[in-house]
Amino acid sequence: MTLTQPSLTQPSPTQPAVVQTGLTGRTSALDDAQAQLAEAAAALGYDEGLHTMLAKPRRELTVTIPLRRDDGSMQVLTGYRVQHNISRGPAKGGLRYSPDVTLDEVRALAMWMTWKCALLDVPYGGAKGGIALDPRQYSIGELERVTRRYTSEILPIIGPQQDIQAPDIGTDERTMAWIMDTYSVSQGHTVPGIVTGKPLSLGGSLGRASATSRGVVHIAKAALHSLGIRVDGSTAAIQGFGKVGRDAARFLADEGARVVAVSDQYGAIHRAAGLDIHALGAHVDATGSVVGFGSADELEAADLLELDVDLLVPAAVEGVIHEGNAASIRARIIVEGANGPTSRAADAILASHGVLVAPDILANAGGVIVSYFEWVQANQSYRWQARDVEARLEERMLAAWAAVNEHARAHELTLRAAATRLAVARVTEAHRLRGLYP
Ligand code: NAD
Repeated sequence: MTLTQPSLTQPSPTQPAVVQTGLTGRTSALDDAQAQLAEAAAALGYDEGLHTMLAKPRRELTVTIPLRRDDGSMQVLTGYRVQHNISRGPAKGGLRYSPDVTLDEVRALAMWMTWKCALLDVPYGGAKGGIALDPRQYSIGELERVTRRYTSEILPIIGPQQDIQAPDIGTDERTMAWIMDTYSVSQGHTVPGIVTGKPLSLGGSLGRASATSRGVVHIAKAALHSLGIRVDGSTAAIQGFGKVGRDAARFLADEGARVVAVSDQYGAIHRAAGLDIHALGAHVDATGSVVGFGSADELEAADLLELDVDLLVPAAVEGVIHEGNAASIRARIIVEGANGPTSRAADAILASHGVLVAPDILANAGGVIVSYFEWVQANQSYRWQARDVEARLEERMLAAWAAVNEHARAHELTLRAAATRLAVARVTEAHRLRGLYP
């Protein structure tokens, strides 16, 4: 199988130790998500019953995953699947493998998926899943056994019309292939629509692997234009060099932007004249990290967020821009490649400093848009051309950007508040039209 990204599961002997990137002062993702909803619900005039219904996940499943390790010992892992809302269609959301996964984090990510799907008008509700494990500590065989057992444990609530998974932190197209095979075996026939982000040879979509990053760059370009900054010659810093950050850096560099700093969980690098992103990609493939890239200087990981750049793209984890560092951010624009990188308190500080924040539910929606295209292609057994996928992705991203900006201008809101209100109102409309059963 061809992996479009370096596998996350093979530690390199040269890989440095993990660093914590400025996480002091971070609040919980679930608190942030709930506060965003509360603000939208109050502004939309919802009563307590409706607000509570939107705040609570529709279904949650916690599963125990016994794993036989390669050395014969047994380890017991915990996995979660949360379906936040299914008023607009089947639940849709990624699967995360990280030691930091908790039920509350999965709840927050599932809620954001609900708003994202509604904002981009894809016919899904929101879900998320996760297993608390560090994939780098497990062999490929062990990860396959974990994935297959997790899939069989959550079988009662997943299906191509019920809940569709996709890659997120620590998972990739190979993980999706294992899920698809496990589910298909349970059904007695191949069911490609059970996951998106599959390998191309199993019915994956052209353009899916880079879709989130392409979408981030469509929004970044639109945001730069809106402030009268030329993309060509603009400066950018990118936190995270995984599935989202790496291609976002590449596409920005291809557009003529100067990517002056990037980081991953092992550290950060900086080069004022701009990093050679293609050469950096080769370095990461060889060593497993951006650290030690020849022509760049080392940078304190937390300092990347505070560089004087036009564009900052957090594309790693939640809560990295918080009350403790928001006032030090010098970027003019933040485009959220990651889910939940900016805390509520930081949002207010950034707004008062005039930093334009393109929120996650808009900026990183490219992945779910092309996931939707992949699901449509799977259901029709018909493959679209890459140029059709990319043109339709751009059209939807820019339409959503325009709608959010218009709403923000009309009501004097931040882009996040505007995006959240639009999305919450769409979910509520679907709920109202369907009625409350019984
Ligand atoms: P990934 O596992 O492929 O990459 C994560 C990257 O972040 C890695 O380079 C890792 O080293 C780095 N990282 C982790 N912790 C860090 C830290 N504290 N500081 C700096 N770097 C750190 O994951 P991904 O799929 O690229 O996801 C990244 C973010 O984007 C997540 O928030 C995810 O939910 C979000 N997202 C992903 C997709 C998608 O299609 N993959 C879609 C929408 C949103």
